[in-house]
Amino acid sequence: MKRPILIHPDPRLKKAAPPVEDISDELRKLADDMLETMYDAPGIGLAAPQVGVSTRLITLDCVKEEGAAPRPLVMFNPRVIAASDERSTYEEGCLSIPDQYAEVERPAEVTVEWLDRDGTLQTEDFDGLWATCVQHEIDHLDGKLFIDYLKPLKRQMITRKMLKLKKERARAAG
Ligand SMILES: [Zn+2]
Repeated sequence: MKRPILIHPDPRLKKAAPPVEDISDELRKLADDMLETMYDAPGIGLAAPQVGVSTRLITLDCVKEEGAAPRPLVMFNPRVIAASDERSTYEEGCLSIPDQYAEVERPAEVTVEWLDRDGTLQTEDFDGLWATCVQHEIDHLDGKLFIDYLKPLKRQMITRKMLKLKKERARAAG
């Protein structure tokens, strides 16, 4: 089941989410819904707070090559346990900030630890787009958006555009 994605600014996007203590069927269902919502958008990553659920769960799939097999990842309590000194810059976007893109610099490689949907601890090194995406999604769990890395003026400009978009959408919805 697809879920509505919250649009910035929204206080629920600014709140740090508490850790998952028990991976219940309900949370696995939420993960499935998030994957469906993410692929439909389309997007390469989604965090539970973006669908209004304050819990440490993210989904991602950064496979871009045409015809390549998808790699849906579900991460409960994801944590960056090591980051490279080397940094890389990507033009980032966010499903909660539609049609706005800006360059953000982050560590080029990260080691991430998480619990999979069976509660098994997984560890993996990510680089390239995967590294950017997983850091962007983990930021959401701490109430942080990619625009928080930008200069205040640019951030305010984007926020004003989003307020306008939300107003238009509310009007369209009657
Ligand atoms: Zn995002």
